[in-house]
Amino acid sequence: MPNNQVFAYIWACREVLKLPVDGFIIDAVQTGSNFCRFARQVYNVSKELVDEWYADTLHHLEISDVYANSQYYPANFTSCGNYGGCRYREACAHAKSQRNIFFGNDFQQEYHPDLEETKPVKLEVIEGGKQ
Ligand code: SF4
Repeated sequence: MPNNQVFAYIWACREVLKLPVDGFIIDAVQTGSNFCRFARQVYNVSKELVDEWYADTLHHLEISDVYANSQYYPANFTSCGNYGGCRYREACAHAKSQRNIFFGNDFQQEYHPDLEETKPVKLEVIEGGKQ
């Protein structure tokens, strides 16, 4: 049942909109060639659980600030297979000193406009990449 998206909605309903939300409902339909099934599951989510999620979320944001301020983003190998697989898997499977081979032809390097605030004076460029 723990789910970032749903907990964020519950937190916003309770804390921002001041609505007395107890939890959430999932309605599901399974359809087959000769059948159709319906199911409903009701979840109550305690204030303590959402408060913990909120505190943890703030902590994750603080960690993100540390990454941005240090301009160092450590690899997270638990995410490599998400959403069909990370685009950088082939590069990350090799030693850092060899990654320029993969970045050289397939990637264009530029700073995303949303990160302008944290842009370092000198942008680290991976040798071999397009600019
Ligand atoms: S493959 Fe993607 S998710 Fe995995 S460590 Fe590299 S950049 Fe991160």
